[in-house]
Amino acid sequence: MKMSQVLDCDAVNCIYNKDKKCHTLAVNIGDKEPLCDTFMTGASKGGFDDVIGGVGSCKVSECSFNKSYECMSTGVHMSIVGDHVDCKTYHKK
Ligand code: SF4
Ligand code: SF4
Repeated sequence: MKMSQVLDCDAVNCIYNKDKKCHTLAVNIGDKEPLCDTFMTGASKGGFDDVIGGVGSCKVSECSFNKSYECMSTGVHMSIVGDHVDCKTYHKK
């Protein structure tokens, strides 16, 4: 089974974001909303340049891509909404 990839993310203020790509090994999505729980701001950047983030877990069971609290899509698009970052690939069952 392949981990769903974070295809792009416009949260350039997140420490894991470089060039609108996510560079941490795995993000966690959820809970009540399909938001990135790994989003973090700070003075210095984190993650690894040669890593493209994957969806490590997702608590949003009402999404049609969610099976057993894992993301079964091939990739997700992430975007800033207000003060958080949402999974735009979310599709209600
Ligand atoms: S997906 Fe989450 S952790 Fe990755 S860059 Fe975007 S906000 Fe940051
Ligand atoms: S597509 Fe659905 S299951 Fe996958 S991370 Fe987004 S909300 Fe979770």
